[in-house]
Amino acid sequence: SPGSRSKDSLDLRDIFIAVKTTRKYHKSRLQLLSQTWVSKAKEQVGRCFNGLHLTGNEAVVSCVLFCRWFCHMDDDNYVILPSLLELLSSYSHTQDVYLGRPSLDHPIEAAERVKMKFWFATGGAGFCISRGLALKMSPWASLGNFITTAEKIRLPDDCTVGYIIEALLEVPLTHTGLFHSHLENLQRLPTDNILQQVTLSYGGFENRRNVVSVGGAFSLAEDPTRFKTVHCLLYPDTEWCPHKTRH
Ligand code: UDP
Ligand code: MN
Repeated sequence: SPGSRSKDSLDLRDIFIAVKTTRKYHKSRLQLLSQTWVSKAKEQVGRCFNGLHLTGNEAVVSCVLFCRWFCHMDDDNYVILPSLLELLSSYSHTQDVYLGRPSLDHPIEAAERVKMKFWFATGGAGFCISRGLALKMSPWASLGNFITTAEKIRLPDDCTVGYIIEALLEVPLTHTGLFHSHLENLQRLPTDNILQQVTLSYGGFENRRNVVSVGGAFSLAEDPTRFKTVHCLLYPDTEWCPHKTRH
């Protein structure tokens, strides 16, 4: 309850989660998220349609103003909220923290004036930034400025975030293996560790169906992304999850 909220322990309400999407995925991707993890974090989730923020709910607006953490997800990510809370609780939001899965096994080089090397977190796996750091980014990252910065280094948006944080602000990426995109082989994630991960994804990998291997409520045909199955393992009381018959 709101009254029992302690000053230091992290709450879902301390995290703003932006989901990047585009109109063409509204049906195919967003609907699945709304049914699953977003339903547990409705007030924390803002949508950004190609960079334009659509919030439109008071809780989200106040979170943008006061949140301790800003996380950025793609519309093909499942966010395991208890794991996200636990992970962020182990860092201080008052320090400069940039947390994500490194996109490459080496830093990338930007050839803008002087060559600079920097790490960046894979956008497709999601990443999180502490409030203090997010504020420091604003000269390069607020609306129009972000596009100018991205055009200057001619790299995609997730690389641009890494460039601003690592190269310009000199804050190192904190590497985590708990965020996952479909660039990796998701079938290789150990089944008994899946609920301890922070993000999951699905998609094409070497032309095979690249999804986490988790059994349970739904078959592959019923739940091709496995997001519903994961959701029912996390929240078995959800009304559309198959329930064991009571005697
Ligand atoms: N996306 C977008 N506009 C587009 C295409 C994609 O905003 O024209 C978003 C999409 O909704 C998703 C992210 O960019 O959040 C990555 O898209 P996708 O998963 O299709 O590509 P990949 O992960 O293979 O780069
Ligand atoms: Mn993707």
